[in-house]
Amino acid sequence: MSRVYNFSAGPAALPLEVLETIRDDIPDWQGTGMSVMEISHRSKEFVDLAARCETNLRTLLAIPDDYSVIWTQGGATLQMAMVPWNLAAPDDAADYVVTGSWGRKALGEAQKACRANLAADASDRNFTYIPEPSMWQLSDNAAYLHITANETIAGVEFHELPDSEVPIVSDMSSTILSRPIDVSRYGAIYAGAQKNIGPAGITLAIVRNDLLEPKRDNLPHLMMWKSYAESDSMTNTPPTFAWYVADLVLQHLLAIGGLEAMAEVNQRKSGKLYAAIDASDFYGNPVDKSCRSWMNVPFILVDPDLDGKFLDESAEAGLTNLKGHRSVGGMRASIYNAVPEEAVDALIDFMADFERRYG
Ligand SMILES: *Cc1c(COP(=O)(O)O)cnc(C)c1O
Repeated sequence: MSRVYNFSAGPAALPLEVLETIRDDIPDWQGTGMSVMEISHRSKEFVDLAARCETNLRTLLAIPDDYSVIWTQGGATLQMAMVPWNLAAPDDAADYVVTGSWGRKALGEAQKACRANLAADASDRNFTYIPEPSMWQLSDNAAYLHITANETIAGVEFHELPDSEVPIVSDMSSTILSRPIDVSRYGAIYAGAQKNIGPAGITLAIVRNDLLEPKRDNLPHLMMWKSYAESDSMTNTPPTFAWYVADLVLQHLLAIGGLEAMAEVNQRKSGKLYAAIDASDFYGNPVDKSCRSWMNVPFILVDPDLDGKFLDESAEAGLTNLKGHRSVGGMRASIYNAVPEEAVDALIDFMADFERRYG
């Protein structure tokens, strides 16, 4: 078997232990004589899986009892629409802090549903910083304040949550489970699974119970958080295979020490990669040091003519998916939970060697 070091931004690497369990489970899951894909979501085995998955998530993130855990389809992108349709009446204001492309997309969805306000916009410096909270142009009586905890493309992450008088809603797709968070400071959190939770196809929302009642009538069932909360996320047939893998990932995280342990590794992984980039005149990262992402590390080669060579040679060395997003160029190493520290060490070694040969 040969596995590469996979720096994909998403869908992204999964823990090898989880992949091995899946392989072993496929023909006969838990003595049912069926794979998990072939069994009813209403079966006892699957209902137990869903319950365990929620319990483990609640343990990992210390989710308070007055929050609901909801699993949907449609990705983080559907949540970008569900947020305003559930939390705001058509005349309500909602504030958006846009620190990257995903936040801009979320704002666009909200503009269709309510009076969405661009409270702050970091595009003036190519999404390389987080505007000072004291400068944000907040609305009076906004229904909520939306942020993107980690902007996956430019690699900008909130390391401190601002204070807010209104519920904070955070897109945590590319940072959830990377470290402990204080869920009680949020009104709602959402995340597509395919970065740190599991495979694409399932999406997590954590919603404070007093925010579950939609602020408008006639929403389709599948657009209402409340429907999911009331049906244990079985409003319709859920993405059972993706849910099963998410359950395995959460069990794995608990087994390796939970989110404190994960945070320590993640901080070390990103810290050494940024240190290597900063120590060299050959590579660069333009993001303010105070908000550099632990999960997505974009970097450029000062001479972009070497980009092609870097990508070819790194792939040959077993370091894959390092090409930066087309809107930023250069490289990006996504170093999610399941990317082992050895992968980061191998990347740093490769970068130093490449610089010696071409610098
Ligand atoms: C990947 C990502 C998305 C898109 O998620 P989908 O599940 O594809 O809809 C949204 N927001 C952020 C921050 C992401 O990293």
